[in-house]
Amino acid sequence: MSLKQAGGCIIGDLETSQNSQQTLIDPFQRAVTYVRISVTDRCDFRCVYCMAENMTFLPKQELLSLEELDRLCTSFVSLGVKKLRITGGEPLVRKNILQLFQSLSRHLDSGALEEITVTTNGSQLAKYADELYATGVRRVNVSLDTLDENKFQAITRWGRLSQVLDGIKAAQKAGLKIKINTVALKDINEHELASMMQWAHTQGMDYTLIETMPLGDIDGDRTDQYLPLNKVREKLSERFTLQPNTYKTAGPARYVDVSETGGRLGFITPMTHNFCESCNRVRVTCTGQLFMCLGQEDRADLRGPLRASESNEPLKQAIREAIDRKPKGHDFIIDRERNQPAVSRHMSVTGG
Ligand code: SAM
Ligand code: SF4
Repeated sequence: MSLKQAGGCIIGDLETSQNSQQTLIDPFQRAVTYVRISVTDRCDFRCVYCMAENMTFLPKQELLSLEELDRLCTSFVSLGVKKLRITGGEPLVRKNILQLFQSLSRHLDSGALEEITVTTNGSQLAKYADELYATGVRRVNVSLDTLDENKFQAITRWGRLSQVLDGIKAAQKAGLKIKINTVALKDINEHELASMMQWAHTQGMDYTLIETMPLGDIDGDRTDQYLPLNKVREKLSERFTLQPNTYKTAGPARYVDVSETGGRLGFITPMTHNFCESCNRVRVTCTGQLFMCLGQEDRADLRGPLRASESNEPLKQAIREAIDRKPKGHDFIIDRERNQPAVSRHMSVTGG
């Protein structure tokens, strides 16, 4: 391996038997191999912890076009990124989004990319599951916070539970592996988490719990919603045997095996446990802003270099320079005094 300095970022030329490929390595020697890309800030739901009911969305011309999204992803792949997660807003409400999956599948075919995954609220899965599978997607994360119809409506404001459950069924039928993600919400779904885990495991799906993060203004008080997952874990261990598991995806979840259900349970705990030390990922918004850390404000504009040249070289250079500024970690706190979000942008902007 030879290392050279380019735009301040260390680029490793990894010689493989077949080809030579670049890798992005940040100042803390973490290789960036995973990119989450938000393809829209819009959504057909208005989850209480994510959005205000009256959201103002970006004008369409500010969004990257599907061609620009393809160029962006392709540039990351040529810089050694192995996993792409397509997210939003709700990625599957973006017009003609299947075209992006279709064009990116060439990187799966060539072996340059290992995986393309999607995070979705499930509302459009019944419509798209077969086509997603056909483009090479094999794993989908579906966000679902309750199995109670009334609560579902209260949490998502605009969603219908039956539509999501139909979407999950269709995705399973299409052959997609599903992980259910649930945001743990104090008093709202707190007492349902055990039964949701059992439901997911019975259907052969992994189940992951997420702590609420203080991102963006919502119509309400976040300290009302925050439920630390160490408390949930304690409660679950009274009823279930949780065996620590070394299973690791590219994401930040830590997993346990649940002996009684035979399923896997994940915890994403940005508030109570800092998982930054092994961070291998960055996020790009639907306007082409690259965030090196979900919990920090620093960003790099990639839309400028994308639109300034037909060549991907200026874009790749901007990516390298940004990775050189990737911070060591975040410092989320839910501030009880000020009740201000730690980071002003919504999760639907940065992409979950
Ligand atoms: N609309 C898709 C969905 O809901 O899966 C993708 C985007 S959504 C922003 C991605 C994930 O972020 C969802 O699992 C959602 O529950 C989670 N999320 C949104 N706002 C959050 C917050 N403030 N704290 C923790 N998780 C949040
Ligand atoms: Fe939409 Fe996902 Fe945010 Fe809910 S969490 S409002 S489904 S983007």
